[in-house]
Amino acid sequence: MQQYFVKNKIEEKEIVLEEDIAFHVQKVMRMKPQTRIRLVDADKRCYLAEIDYRKNQVFAIILDEIRESSEMNCEITLIMGLIRQEKWDFVLQKCSELGVKRIIPMMSSRNVVKTKEEKIEKKLERWNKITQEACEQCKRFEIAEVSAPIKLNHCDKYKSELNLIAYENAESISEDIRTLLNYNCKSVTFIIGPEGGFSEEEVMLCESMGYKRCSLGKRILRAETAAMYCCAVVNALVE
Ligand code: SAM
Repeated sequence: MQQYFVKNKIEEKEIVLEEDIAFHVQKVMRMKPQTRIRLVDADKRCYLAEIDYRKNQVFAIILDEIRESSEMNCEITLIMGLIRQEKWDFVLQKCSELGVKRIIPMMSSRNVVKTKEEKIEKKLERWNKITQEACEQCKRFEIAEVSAPIKLNHCDKYKSELNLIAYENAESISEDIRTLLNYNCKSVTFIIGPEGGFSEEEVMLCESMGYKRCSLGKRILRAETAAMYCCAVVNALVE
């Protein structure tokens, strides 16, 4: 069953679908009348609805509210060194499926990818479209947010209950992610380095902001793998 995020609150028994959704329903999916869809509104409430075509508009008749939320009961903030586009897009899609709340690209000393200020607006639009499509596909009630890139020394603004920096040179025993994550953790921020990783000084800077260094195991993971690993561990441990 197809799901769509609508911009406004659903307060009526039927609504006219927004143009882009109506186009997808009618021209792309070629849905027949009475086809059922899920709609998530601006209040993050999910509804079962059925399609109805009248004149040149596509209506959704609201049938019922779907209360069983698929959102994580632990908010994940992923601060991630900006990596090459195709891998970055992959991280956005997969971590959205894995329940991430927000993804914040980060620029540090060893980023391979540099972003131009004037291109950020366009990139943000594309990045948020990727997360919206991924969140529609996996039936989430929220869209994972992607914000503009930050510098490493601004990570203190995005702290959670638990704050970890994944460091490839961390001691894999004492700073293992399982010992750091606890089952009733309500929110966690992970900092993941770019392709070039972190310098010891950068890790110490993050520690001075209250982040703990943590190991993701004995193998050196690609940045995109590390991001998915962190989200998957929270899913497994906390969900
Ligand atoms: N430059 C590093 C090297 O070659 O040793 C690799 C960096 S890795 C590609 C990118 C990021 O993934 C790291 O900065 C870290 O945040 C995370 N990462 C990868 N493997 C990890 C591990 N075993 N433990 C902790 N973090 C890891």
